[in-house]
Amino acid sequence: MGRLRRSRAHHARRDVHRAARTRARTRDLDQIQLIDLDPKVCVHRAALEAQPIDYDLPGLAQHYCVECAKYYETDNALKSHWKSKVHKRRLKELKEPAYTIEESERAAGLGRENKRATAASSSTPSAAVDAIMS
Ligand SMILES: [Zn+2]
Repeated sequence: MGRLRRSRAHHARRDVHRAARTRARTRDLDQIQLIDLDPKVCVHRAALEAQPIDYDLPGLAQHYCVECAKYYETDNALKSHWKSKVHKRRLKELKEPAYTIEESERAAGLGRENKRATAASSSTPSAAVDAIMS
């Protein structure tokens, strides 16, 4: 057995060891996208940006980046973070649609599309043909 792949294992991720630690685990991309950045519920975002003072969190939880789910010590640190590569990359990642339960069910053939097709075929054959054609 040869050497297992060690190089190029992480693209532009500065501290992989810290990210892998469970105690440093932050919110996942889909949690941020579907809960924190939900356009229908803008309360979440406002609540996250104006959190009550928490002495256990960095900067008393007053400087929080919603997209990255990270606390910063000072306002300047947060502002320079918004200009940083890490944050811009995160914004790009968040623009892509999150992996949802519906998608996994569709992949397994349990999705809504499947259900609709069977319901249509049981009612009228012409409706089923229309469903297939469209
Ligand atoms: Zn950020």
